[in-house]
Amino acid sequence: MQQSNLLVSACLMGLKVRYNGSEKTALQGLLARWQQENRLIIHCPELAAGLPVPRKAAEIVAGAGADVLREQARIIENDGRDVTAHYQLAAWLALRAAQENGCRAALLTDGSPTCGSQFIYNGTFSGTRREGMGVAAALLEAHGIRVFSDRQLPALLAWLEETERENDSL
Ligand code: SF4
Repeated sequence: MQQSNLLVSACLMGLKVRYNGSEKTALQGLLARWQQENRLIIHCPELAAGLPVPRKAAEIVAGAGADVLREQARIIENDGRDVTAHYQLAAWLALRAAQENGCRAALLTDGSPTCGSQFIYNGTFSGTRREGMGVAAALLEAHGIRVFSDRQLPALLAWLEETERENDSL
């Protein structure tokens, strides 16, 4: 069987890399199995781009990830500092990590201005969600890499099965 690699948010693997130093440990059993199978590329785009831990919370203002990549929206920290360039770099580094490691899909933490895929926060720092993708998720999708959130495990499993069936029949 030809196996598909997955780019995975480092914080989903229990690494304390989130802005507030916490981790996300959902999906542990499945992730442990995939890790044993050597199919996970564990990556934190924000850390790769040089952002520190802990760091200030950041949100996309007046747009979503694709708008940030087009310079039509900004990413601001909760003290007003514009960190758009750091997050744009984070997105490109995630894409490079995925491409260099043959990932055709990514499993990313939802809600983040970088990794979010089903929702992000609306830029008011009030805890208000809006639909949309973060910068890395948007860039990966734009380059043909399917993005699944940590709440879309059944869809990811179905995608993996289908992709590997197709690969085997080639
Ligand atoms: S950038 Fe992505 S991997 Fe890094 S802490 Fe944020 S959600 Fe997790």
